[in-house]
Amino acid sequence: MDRQQDFVLRTLEERDIRFVRLWFTDVLGTLKSVSVAPAELEAAFEEGIGFDGSAIEGFTRVYEADMVAMPDPSTFQVFPFEGAGSGESARMFCDIQMPDGSPSWADPRHVLRRALRKAADKGFTFYTHPEIEFFLLANHPTDGTRPTPVDSGGYFDHTTHATARDFRRQAVLALERIGISVEFSHHETAPGQQEIDLRYADALATADNIMTFRHVIKEVALFQGVSATFMPKPFTDLAGNGMHTHLSLFEGERNAFHDPGDPMTLSKTAKAFIAGMLFHAQEYTAVTNQWVNSYKRLFGVQTNSVNEAPSSICWGHLNRSALVRVPRYGKPHSARVEIRSVDAACNPYLTFAVLLAAGLKGIEEGYELPPGAEDDVWSLSPEERRALGYQDLPHDLSEALGYMEKSELVAETLGEQIFDFFLKNKRAEWDDYRRQVTAYERRRYLPFL
Ligand code: GLU
Ligand code: MG
Ligand code: MG
Repeated sequence: MDRQQDFVLRTLEERDIRFVRLWFTDVLGTLKSVSVAPAELEAAFEEGIGFDGSAIEGFTRVYEADMVAMPDPSTFQVFPFEGAGSGESARMFCDIQMPDGSPSWADPRHVLRRALRKAADKGFTFYTHPEIEFFLLANHPTDGTRPTPVDSGGYFDHTTHATARDFRRQAVLALERIGISVEFSHHETAPGQQEIDLRYADALATADNIMTFRHVIKEVALFQGVSATFMPKPFTDLAGNGMHTHLSLFEGERNAFHDPGDPMTLSKTAKAFIAGMLFHAQEYTAVTNQWVNSYKRLFGVQTNSVNEAPSSICWGHLNRSALVRVPRYGKPHSARVEIRSVDAACNPYLTFAVLLAAGLKGIEEGYELPPGAEDDVWSLSPEERRALGYQDLPHDLSEALGYMEKSELVAETLGEQIFDFFLKNKRAEWDDYRRQVTAYERRRYLPFL
């Protein structure tokens, strides 16, 4: 037994914790959980916990259904605010293995580990810092009618209202108590919309933190009698939920994106990384924006107060209308680039894996960074955008899948099994959607057809 495993077992005993939740994530980014009694844990560290993989989206074919969840003791965390009255609980993330002990190709955590190892072979560590947006809703109708946001606040407003008072403070305190550091939190542009930004960490820790974050936010919301949603675009007429992510590569202690001699103080490595993200953007967008609804955000009405999500493939220094923005930064170690298409309902493991792979490809192949966008890209006409050489992000899930299908980079990064499963599952989602007759169509056509 190693030191971390030993620490976990001792902590469970000292704090009299009765439940340990073992967490993992399926291909579509849904959190899965199995509870074990502490007495079972020693065996679980040795042999893992067996489960039927065929019951979980994307994990396995029925005839090879047995899978094993191996708890990762470095992710052990006590949840002090859960199970009030019935003692504390704790959780660990798991790596998923095949019965023969080899890593499961269908485990998103493994996909990210593999991409990180590729970066490490080149001497790079990959750091990410997400800005997570979500809505707080006073009700949660399941029949498709419009929910009601908890307040009528706007960007940076300090709101006082009857429901979900003090929500962000409660949420941030809960996150800090389980070791997730929050950098900023504020009200976003739309009524009921919030943003909480996590401090940067290595990409695997960030992805685990995002999964934990979604769970904690939903719990705190329920506790306050409201509900939280990360759906990319719940309202036609309000901004959607983005997850802008700041990315950087370090070589040891040194930020490889920083160059004091450059006018933007951005290194050649950073520029090639951006070029890679732009060049492959159409191919990986099905992963960073994986739902039919994701494209309603990217192609929503583009006025400053309503959407602010990117739709063209370009980059810009301090330009919030571009897909990739180079933010102003102070200290050399905080050099970074921000990708703005990613939405709050993505699978963070797969998302970070494809972004890293695209950026590394740019570095490996020495891609040239095209000129940056200086204007407000949203106000350009399609002809103006074309003249500047900006291509559109895919307009809908079907188009995004078409690009992904032809992408060697995405196939290689996700591995064959997830790649095939993802395309099949998402094609089915698209087919189901395009058969629907919507309220919009009835409103639009019934009066005169
Ligand atoms: N909510 C906007 C989006 O969907 C982002 C707003 C902002 O933080 O600039 O991407
Ligand atoms: Mg924001
Ligand atoms: Mg941002």
